[in-house]
Amino acid sequence: MFDSTSYDGLFVDGDWVATRAGRTTTVTNPATATVIGTVPEGDPADLDAAVAAARRAYDEGPWPRLSSRERATLLHRFVDVLDAHRRELAAVITAESGALPALVEGTHFGIGFGRFRHAVDLAATQLDSVTPLRTGPGSVLGATALVYRPRGVVGLITPFNFPLYLNLCKLGPALAMGNTVVLKPSPLTPLEGLVLGAAAAEAGLPPGAVNVVTGGVAVGEALVADPRVDMISFTGSSRTGSDIMGLAARSLKPVVLELGGKSALVVREDAAVADAADLAYHSFTLHAGQGCVLLTRHVVHRRLVGDFLDALAERAARTVVGDPADATTTMGPLISAAQRDRVAEYVAIGAAEGGEIVIGGKPVERPGYFHAPTVIRGVSPKARVAQEEIFGPVAVVLPFDTDDEAVAIANDSRFGLSGGVVGADAGKAWEIARRLNTGSVRINGGGTALDADAPITGWGASGIGAEHGLPGLLEFGRPQSIAFRVR
Ligand code: NAD
Repeated sequence: MFDSTSYDGLFVDGDWVATRAGRTTTVTNPATATVIGTVPEGDPADLDAAVAAARRAYDEGPWPRLSSRERATLLHRFVDVLDAHRRELAAVITAESGALPALVEGTHFGIGFGRFRHAVDLAATQLDSVTPLRTGPGSVLGATALVYRPRGVVGLITPFNFPLYLNLCKLGPALAMGNTVVLKPSPLTPLEGLVLGAAAAEAGLPPGAVNVVTGGVAVGEALVADPRVDMISFTGSSRTGSDIMGLAARSLKPVVLELGGKSALVVREDAAVADAADLAYHSFTLHAGQGCVLLTRHVVHRRLVGDFLDALAERAARTVVGDPADATTTMGPLISAAQRDRVAEYVAIGAAEGGEIVIGGKPVERPGYFHAPTVIRGVSPKARVAQEEIFGPVAVVLPFDTDDEAVAIANDSRFGLSGGVVGADAGKAWEIARRLNTGSVRINGGGTALDADAPITGWGASGIGAEHGLPGLLEFGRPQSIAFRVR
């Protein structure tokens, strides 16, 4: 089952069930443009059944009534099951989403399994207790205790770029807090959602605790609008996040939104160009640029721009674009023909905006959906290619003269997801980091984003609420204060 690229049913109420309408859809390998499997295509009627199951499992089932330690035992078993099937799963992830084996191992398994387990352990050790807040005044002796209750039924909606990892980052904390969930994965990557049904069944999670329904916008909207759903946790584009928030508002449903980005890497005059170029290159070519936190605006001190571009060109020339199943490949495909064409369109927009394409600039002609690493210089920081999320291997280089100017350029964005600073003077780099309007900053390639306690919090159009760490876990709970008196 864990190597499966085809499914007959959706995972609802602990079982595999056929869709009501019997529709199916195919799954395509983006590196070859060939169909690798067929899955059922859910619709709002299937979603209705899944929400009913999750509601029942929450209202009547054992899941929210187990202690968090009991839930932790089952949830660690859930990851153990996935871990035991790493090899089969890795092949599915690479074929479905185009991830290089190193990304599968590092991000999907390494960080994904780690964060899932971390959230489960946090819930089991830090929240399953009563915290006295204060004693009562005068002759009345008492206290107020703060407890965290689950929100109830949580709808999880995820994108295509790091499907297994992102699904796990939501499922772990949501389930650990005692919620039951309905997961709607991206229609481009349903396998990495459905496989979690198989893991839930094998780990022995109670029926209805985890439900997985495939489908597109109609299923997502039905999940957001359903009055039986208590919360939505969404990762995807800012535009969809805005639509979801509007729809959720009608039922006053809380939302956590992890959205798009166009993050800046500031390269100070005292930076070692080779280090800056390593980080910059990695930051727009990782997973062919399909990462929300990637640093795709390279804000570089004017005196370094020439050397910086030469160093980037060297690295780009060594890129082996191809099928991630081939061991020599260093950069894989975009997810679809539409995404490849969108990237090409943005490159044309950049040229029309007065940009010089200094590296790459074209789709790669081979089966599958590929685009060459591309760097554009000479556009205004206000240009569309410097402001809009492209979600492909495209970076813009924007020169600056003073730190103040670098900060102004970096902050001239509707997004605020991540950022980076490179420079020899750590104090100056720290000062710049403190002035960037963004949820996380990496100085000299520091890996804060990899720390399971460090939340991702999008500012501005990059999101609302937190994911990861204690702040992310608490999003899936409701604080309740209970005051009592001792006689
Ligand atoms: P998308 O917004 O097109 O789709 C995401 C999910 O939402 C899919 O499952 C889709 O079917 C569903 N959806 C679409 N319209 C909907 C609606 N009206 N109601 C409910 N559900 C709906 O995003 P995508 O193209 O799959 O993913 C790329 C985007 O995700 C990028 O913008 C990227 O930055 C963002 N992203 C953000 C983070 C983060 O942590 N901030 C992480 C990964 C990706």
